Amino acid sequence: MRKKIVAGNWKMNLGYQEGISLFSEVANMVKDEVIGNQQIIVCSPFIHLHSIASLTNEHKNVFVGAQNIHQEDAGAYTGEVSAKQVRSTGAAYVILGHSERRAYFGESDELLAKKVNIALTHNLVPIFCIGETKEERESGEFFDVIKKQLEKGVFHLSESDFSKIILAYEPVWAIGTGLTASPEQAQEVHAFIRKEVEAKYGSAVADETSILYGGSCNPKNAPDLFSQPDIDGGLIGGASLKSRDFTDIVKVFN
Ligand code: PEP
Repeated sequence: MRKKIVAGNWKMNLGYQEGISLFSEVANMVKDEVIGNQQIIVCSPFIHLHSIASLTNEHKNVFVGAQNIHQEDAGAYTGEVSAKQVRSTGAAYVILGHSERRAYFGESDELLAKKVNIALTHNLVPIFCIGETKEERESGEFFDVIKKQLEKGVFHLSESDFSKIILAYEPVWAIGTGLTASPEQAQEVHAFIRKEVEAKYGSAVADETSILYGGSCNPKNAPDLFSQPDIDGGLIGGASLKSRDFTDIVKVFN
């Protein structure tokens, strides 16, 4: 049975102490709520990773991840953080392909493929984000956009490496805007993604791939979204900064 995952993306928010307090609060609130095949992943800024990783040891099924890595192993890249360094903190996941990094930092599909490779080399699981802009949705080309993001970002992987990753469908027009894809719109794309995975890697791999929805997900809309057959949880931005909201989203699977 594929994993049900609720991942938080704190983005560039929270000072060190604030982040540790929020994590502790969330971890305590979700501790009796996490069902057997569920995982909670908190993707914090780099500054929190090591401390949160130490705290996750006390919590079954709760993990920490980063929001970016550099594509090279080490070297003269002032200000950057490598996959190996992130892994050394105890973090086990990394968000890659987020639309904010694609748009504001010019991260191309080719660069993202390199980041995916280096993450896997150092045992970090990529949460790989794909999704169309408003214009691409309105012009009806969104299936092509998503297919290309998959082909260039992750379909070069071997079957065994692909089986380790998590996908997240995040329509760009829904991120941080309060506009959510309807459950039907999201399900349509998730089913399309799973079909593409099946065509490339076969049905066993497709059945086991967790595909998360992200984009203004909150405790109100999560139940309808998560009840869709191909939606396996959420990547949560704004609502992950509020312990009650995040916990209520986690509880949707109970
Ligand atoms: C995100 O940044 O991945 C995200 C889904 O943000 P929000 O939930 O705030 O739309």
